[in-house]
Amino acid sequence: MVALLHCLLVSGNFYMRLKISLLFAARSLGLFALSRYVSNDHVRVLCYHGGCVGDESQYNSKLFTSQAHFRERLDWMQAAGFRFISLDEATDIDKGQPADQPRVVITFDDGWHTTAACLLPVLAERQIPSTLYLCTKHFLEGWPVPTVSVHYILWKTRQDTAVVNGLCPDLDGKYDLSNVHERKQLITRAIAFVKTKHSRAEVCDALESFALCLGISPSQLDLASRRFEYASREEIQTASLTCAIEAHGHVHSYPAGAPDRFAEDLRRCSDEIAALGLPRPRHYCYPSGAHDEAAARVLHQNGMKSATTCATGLMEVGERDSYYYLPRFLDGGSVHQIEFEAEMSGFSELVRARLLHPLSVLREEGLVGLARRWLQRQPRAADAVQ
Ligand SMILES: [Zn+2]
Repeated sequence: MVALLHCLLVSGNFYMRLKISLLFAARSLGLFALSRYVSNDHVRVLCYHGGCVGDESQYNSKLFTSQAHFRERLDWMQAAGFRFISLDEATDIDKGQPADQPRVVITFDDGWHTTAACLLPVLAERQIPSTLYLCTKHFLEGWPVPTVSVHYILWKTRQDTAVVNGLCPDLDGKYDLSNVHERKQLITRAIAFVKTKHSRAEVCDALESFALCLGISPSQLDLASRRFEYASREEIQTASLTCAIEAHGHVHSYPAGAPDRFAEDLRRCSDEIAALGLPRPRHYCYPSGAHDEAAARVLHQNGMKSATTCATGLMEVGERDSYYYLPRFLDGGSVHQIEFEAEMSGFSELVRARLLHPLSVLREEGLVGLARRWLQRQPRAADAVQ
């Protein structure tokens, strides 16, 4: 025990290591198996983004997933007896319909070229269904996404100072990269600079020129690999043969508090997907998970069956009112295998819902608040039974 504590304390991220150790202990005690039994009827919805062809998974492991990591997860789920179903099937399941094995839906956000090139082929060879939520503005642009590319360049540079010269008056200058304010200022100005370009060649040229100012060569940036841009029209059409193409909005931003703008964005996205010769989308994914209470009404009026968030949790089948705010689990290379198993077994959700949530209510609202919330749950439970 002393050795274990010493190891935890001296080796960096203490809380993460403590969490990992506790999860291993919980699995050894059979709590994962018990949680899986209890939550067997719930559907697990997994979220991925792009694949990886270079070092971009080190830059952002939840935005770019290596094919090896993806294969490992699928191997584990298949060996553990999970059944892969489509989002359509998941949202058609009736309440109370028993499941003989836990079910999983795989989703991809955005529509990256590397999703189509690196991840979807792995699913196709195993005949696993999936859903890709397409953001149509970036898709139509067909060039590297400025925000992601610029942030990658700032992550990649080893320089302490950036001297930008000859790109544009608003961006040119000397920046101390150890200064948080100056670093943010450089990022904002660089993104604005790249967004003034209106063709793939111009955007790539602007990004490469900016990267050179930070000591990164064009070959290191490797825009030719298309790792920071979306799939082409042909790639999306090919992907649609094995993967449902659904809506992620036209612009990658949810207009909270503006339902009319949301409806317009949704229609534009839907029209662009239909223009590819694909079925009109029936499912939506909130960009960056942002949403509000008005979203459900707009989605319903526009024929949508479901919408996914970035909130972690399990999907309760048959609870159709909740389908416009479906929880998912965002997987990536930084997620330890034992954390993944904890989520997939339902153990993490049980801890959050049955232990952590009541504790936070108790801390914020006291015993009276906890009792009031518990009493308020009763009518909802009764409705659910009907
Ligand atoms: Zn997105």
